[in-house]
Amino acid sequence: MIKENLEFVEKRISDACKRAGRDRSEVTLIAVSKTKPVSDIRQAMESGIRVFGENKVQEIRDKHAEITEPLEWHMIGHLQANKVKYLPGIVCMIHSVDNEKLALEIEKQFSKASLVADVLIEVNMAGEDTKFGIRPDEALDFVKSISVLKHLNIRGLMTIAPYTDDPESNRVYFKGLRELKDRINAGNIDGVQMDTLSMGMTGDYEVAIEEGATFVRVGTGIFGERNYSNIK
Ligand SMILES: *Cc1c(COP(=O)(O)O)cnc(C)c1O
Repeated sequence: MIKENLEFVEKRISDACKRAGRDRSEVTLIAVSKTKPVSDIRQAMESGIRVFGENKVQEIRDKHAEITEPLEWHMIGHLQANKVKYLPGIVCMIHSVDNEKLALEIEKQFSKASLVADVLIEVNMAGEDTKFGIRPDEALDFVKSISVLKHLNIRGLMTIAPYTDDPESNRVYFKGLRELKDRINAGNIDGVQMDTLSMGMTGDYEVAIEEGATFVRVGTGIFGERNYSNIK
């Protein structure tokens, strides 16, 4: 099933790129493998997938240790500062930076490892109480304040749009995130030129691509429904 699901997702990604007049190479599919076993990841690898997303530090560490082939692991979930120390050398990007304490801890831990962390700022575009992320109107000042950190490379913005049956209703948030990126870039903050937009999940990735997504994060559409009791 994973192979067929990936073919279906790939077709929809390339169709969305065509509609938007974008090159397929501008969009990277992150296969969100949280709660799923390594055997599922291996099936996706057989279809050529090398980029995976997880939302728990322990799960990334376990899967990273078990799979020896070089993969790109993206930390896409809420991150507690006390877990950052496990990430240098394991993750290639952190999508969920939304507070100064976390940014400072990433600076500390990646500097210790003589590495620079590629990070995205998580923005709560719809203002949902249940979601993490900074408010859009705080984003410029937040980026300014953490732009001085030498071991963070601020690559762009990430958002999790509301859960909905109607993907069109999320277009406004994806468009808003792209415009926010452009506004921050126009602010000419020293060392900050963002090129990355992580937006769109199983329910709405095509609309996100039409609005400029460079990463889409697709879990259910590839691996099927999740069963959270699989995870300790
Ligand atoms: C779980 C998760 C996804 C994938 O969600 P699906 O609806 O299963 O595609 C994407 N982004 C984040 C941050 C997630 O936690």
